[in-house]
Amino acid sequence: PLKAEIIAVGTELLLGQIANTNAQWLSKQFAATGINVYQHAVVGDNLDRVTAVFAGAQKRSDIILVTGGLGPTEDDLTREAFQKISGLQMVEHASSMKKIETFFKERQMDMTPNNRKQARVFAGAKVLENKAGMAPGMIVEHAGRTWIFLPGVPREMKWLTEHAVLPYLQQVKGMKGVIKSAVLKFIGIGESLLEDKVSSLIQAQSNPTIAPLAQEEGVVIRLTAKADTMEEADELIEETKQQILAKVGKHFVGMDEDSIEEQVVSLLKEKHKQIAAAESLTGGMFTERLVSVEGASKVCAGGIVSYTEEVKKNVLGVSEKTIRENGTVSRECAMEMAERVRQKLGADIGISFTGVAGPEEVEGHPAGTVFIAIMPRDGMVSVEKFTLHGTRNSIRKKAVLKGLQLIFE
Ligand code: ATP
Ligand code: MG
Repeated sequence: PLKAEIIAVGTELLLGQIANTNAQWLSKQFAATGINVYQHAVVGDNLDRVTAVFAGAQKRSDIILVTGGLGPTEDDLTREAFQKISGLQMVEHASSMKKIETFFKERQMDMTPNNRKQARVFAGAKVLENKAGMAPGMIVEHAGRTWIFLPGVPREMKWLTEHAVLPYLQQVKGMKGVIKSAVLKFIGIGESLLEDKVSSLIQAQSNPTIAPLAQEEGVVIRLTAKADTMEEADELIEETKQQILAKVGKHFVGMDEDSIEEQVVSLLKEKHKQIAAAESLTGGMFTERLVSVEGASKVCAGGIVSYTEEVKKNVLGVSEKTIRENGTVSRECAMEMAERVRQKLGADIGISFTGVAGPEEVEGHPAGTVFIAIMPRDGMVSVEKFTLHGTRNSIRKKAVLKGLQLIFE
């Protein structure tokens, strides 16, 4: 079997500011293909030291994968170091250069000479087009060794590995095998219930493996598939995903990076409904999360941050009587806030958040008491009381999350 090593370049790794997750992820990929990884190295942004590590790797390993140091700045030295040990010429890669020029032109920004550096590749290299970022990856067959250069940004590194490096190792080196993971996100269902509902699947199969786990924003199931090719792995994952959704699809919010606010925006879009929020303890955070989603303007009318009692009364129009009789932290106040903001902003649905972020109690309610009301122009009214735990800001965040979940349900 081939001997491989992974070299991560970057001083921030040595300072402990970031963990070397690239090497971990790449090692897993290599293990699946039957390539033995014999060494991980981390080296700072220093030309002599990077060069020395490269020289050692050239002596001992068949496949050398380098991440980081391909960017435009002074401290990105991977190219220079490899040039020193290989003596290879560097040439400008036309389509990468074009991509960089277009990037700057579109933003009407001046391009500095060091930006051109990202388009420089070794003569004879196989250039790996980077659809996830700016600097292309490279594969260089040099003096009996396969050198693979990838950007340090994990998302770009993974994209290039899956789309270019593994296919290359399969075609050129005859390697077989990939690992692919996917994450399915759920809300409104606990970890144990979710696990229970899919337990027959978990027991019946081992590829992909099915692993439920609880996270801050709901529960996720991680699927990890092994296959000969990426396409086969994708198929295995898709098949299992459908089996899981047949059991718990009601609670599904999306894959990997899909967020709950994205799901809420698409749900509202589908129903042609516009929402408006009256926010007290959340201080605009709910609206902020919705607006962060592309296309939110179609479904989010706006919001009113009605933090004090005066603003609840004078701006939003909650009645004196409601507040006198029930307080601002109450079901009644929540409902009236939601109804008023819906009317004032001409939306289809009003949502409100009122409660105690803490640490002090308010109106006799302990920190964490939160009322959320949803008042549609037509349809089901819902008001819920929650008892949330944590610090002031985690209570505020959880309240927003509960609001998003309520709409989703
Ligand atoms: P860029 O073009 O963005 O400068 P680059 O190829 O020069 O890319 P680096 O500057 O080394 O890469 O790294 C960019 C970012 O990617 C780092 O700030 C860090 O957050 C992340 N990163 C780099 N190397 C690793 C690694 N080994 N593991 C995890 N994250 C990493
Ligand atoms: Mg960089």
